[in-house]
Amino acid sequence: MAPNNVISVNAVLFDYDDTLIDAREARDNARRAVIDFLSLVSGLDKSHVLDVFMNIERQMEAIGQFNRRVWFREVASVLGGIRLSDHEVNELVKMYWDSWRSGSRLFSDVLPTLAKLRRCGLRLGIITNTDGEPGLKRDRIRKDGVYELFDLVIIAGDDTKHVKPHPEPFMKALQVLDMRGNEVIYIGDNVGIDVPGAKAAGMRVGIINRYNTVDPGITNYKDVRPDFIIQSLTELLQLIGC
Ligand SMILES: [Mg+2]
Repeated sequence: MAPNNVISVNAVLFDYDDTLIDAREARDNARRAVIDFLSLVSGLDKSHVLDVFMNIERQMEAIGQFNRRVWFREVASVLGGIRLSDHEVNELVKMYWDSWRSGSRLFSDVLPTLAKLRRCGLRLGIITNTDGEPGLKRDRIRKDGVYELFDLVIIAGDDTKHVKPHPEPFMKALQVLDMRGNEVIYIGDNVGIDVPGAKAAGMRVGIINRYNTVDPGITNYKDVRPDFIIQSLTELLQLIGC
């Protein structure tokens, strides 16, 4: 629940996918492109290929491995009997990200909120995990047309050694901003990835419940928990008195 008192901050930093970007269609399009190909070359049922893909996607994300080359080779290996040449893997990676881009949409509250935060004199930033290949995520944010709206964009894993949930990318943001943790608020969608590092850096953290999948009990967790849950960025403006 939102606290009644206004939170005073000097900067607002955001996660990217599923926080600023509605990535559901993007992710579906990207998966489908790869699954169609693997199903075609293997002769295996698409729903089976999808199950294997989703399983590996979860495992890879859990260990912070975002390189799709590694994902696709692992999927092929688990499916068995598929030999992917380097050229085919490159083509698959290209197809995956092209398909992702075609479904990538900014949430409708993003541009009005960023404009308002700017008018309130706040510094703005993104801290997001790498797409697994240097430059790819930054390029994606540019192509989505929002890169220039931020004072800093930190791609964890490209610009830092560690990816979120490690504190390193958050500490780096504080260094760039020349601020202390308590001057900064971080907004993300994933409790496990977005909360621990930001908290360790001393930031306030809000979870945005874009798809109504967040357990409302998380603000009562004993260990690492967000400070609040919001349903939209409009609520954030109220919380910080902007
Ligand atoms: Mg996210």
